[in-house]
Amino acid sequence: CGVFGVYGMESASALTALGLHALQHRGQEAAGITSWDGSQFYTKRAAGHVAENFSNESAIRQLPGDASIGHTRYATTGETAMRNVQPLFAELSSGGFAVAHNGNISNAQHLRRGLNKRGSIFQSTSDTEVIIHLVATSSYRPLLDRIIDALKQIEGAYSLACLTPEGLIAVRDPLGIRPLVLGRLEDAHIVASETVALDVVGATFIRQIEPGEMIVINEKGIRSIRPFAEQTPRPCIFEHVYFSRPDSFLDGMSVYQVRKNIGRELANESPVEADLVIPVPDSGNPAALGYSQQSGIPFEQGIVRSHYVGRTFIQPGQAIRDLSVKLKHNANRELVKGKRIILVDDSIVRGTTSLKIVQMMRDAGAKEVHMRIASPPTRNPCFYGVDTPERSKLLAAQMTVDSMNEFIKTDSLAFISVNGLYRAVGLEGRDDSRPQFCDACFTGAYPTSLTDQEDDGSTE
Ligand code: 5GP
Ligand code: SF4
Ligand code: MG
Repeated sequence: CGVFGVYGMESASALTALGLHALQHRGQEAAGITSWDGSQFYTKRAAGHVAENFSNESAIRQLPGDASIGHTRYATTGETAMRNVQPLFAELSSGGFAVAHNGNISNAQHLRRGLNKRGSIFQSTSDTEVIIHLVATSSYRPLLDRIIDALKQIEGAYSLACLTPEGLIAVRDPLGIRPLVLGRLEDAHIVASETVALDVVGATFIRQIEPGEMIVINEKGIRSIRPFAEQTPRPCIFEHVYFSRPDSFLDGMSVYQVRKNIGRELANESPVEADLVIPVPDSGNPAALGYSQQSGIPFEQGIVRSHYVGRTFIQPGQAIRDLSVKLKHNANRELVKGKRIILVDDSIVRGTTSLKIVQMMRDAGAKEVHMRIASPPTRNPCFYGVDTPERSKLLAAQMTVDSMNEFIKTDSLAFISVNGLYRAVGLEGRDDSRPQFCDACFTGAYPTSLTDQEDDGSTE
């Protein structure tokens, strides 16, 4: 998901709509904005893209005020229903409380059962709603203390933008699993999932919000609090591979440059003689360019992508997913005919994309089809906000690389190594005793406990 927040600017919701548009790639299912005019909260939430619902004047007029938060939704927990669309809002004894959450709480079911027993009535199936109930039922008094008390009970990933009568409150979980940055536009402060959203609204990047940091922005200015015990950060390495936009910066690194580096590493690790390097667009583009530059094999657009289809993987439901893969990519036949090609893509999840694209290249007359993947094999589900399917649906969890090569009918198949990926983000390699990133979908090393996965359904 994508989150965005503004404090201290006229028509804050209009700026939020622009910012959310730049974060559309983080979630295309639904979007929402909450604004605050100093006395009242206003919320509009809708299924579909930001531009469809928030680009008209009337939508913005319904969201008055100088402070606003917004969300683009990509469902990981909770069904696709309007009641799960964020920002979530509740009237607490302390006043209104709106929250936009990127990430996923890995003990949400467990906490929810406890809250239910104590009388909380949930309105959605979203994991985010436990935050609201924990804040509502906290025995602490000042709102900030209640929020801190709530977050200390939560495990998993959260980058939050909350709108309250105390101001805009932004928090990043102690491991910093999902990104969150701080920016400025004239007198207004802005928080956003990615730096691209700051660029698009013409704001200046101040700095990233640090793992475990809470920032309070109100008429008194901006305040930083460190409410949690310090831990070694474990930001999501998959943000670099796929999730973030290539024109964003993560922790000072250009995502585009990292993706090119991955391609270079792949060319060194898994060279092959061929005529062309072809990206699976758009997610494979920068890695393919890096592979081409390192190997000296020409880069060509052998697959053309239709931009009128959303990200394949994000459409819930297998039937639609199958269909949208065909709609999305088409072979550039003249170019591919008779050639030995190297396809480069960011990841293989279910294998649907690769299977179809390899077949498409053969149908277009490719002589040899080699495939190089810009991430290690995805063998484990993500419980932190990226919607990888359960293990049984992950191709790499079911097969060795050799059998995957047979299954998708490539002449050769190779994935970047875990250390190659760490080199691409500028490190010497993975420090196995203290990993610098979350890489659990590749290594199985989850940085938090996974209470809901291990749970027997009981509560303490
Ligand atoms: P597959 O077709 O193998 O199931 O999915 C792989 C394709 O899905 C890749 O081309 C990748 O760009 C795209 N994709 C979209 N969203 C995600 C995501 O959340 N995780 C992963 N690993 N791939 C995704
Ligand atoms: Fe990112 Fe993978 Fe960790 Fe999920 S499991 S947070 S996708 S590295
Ligand atoms: Mg792709």
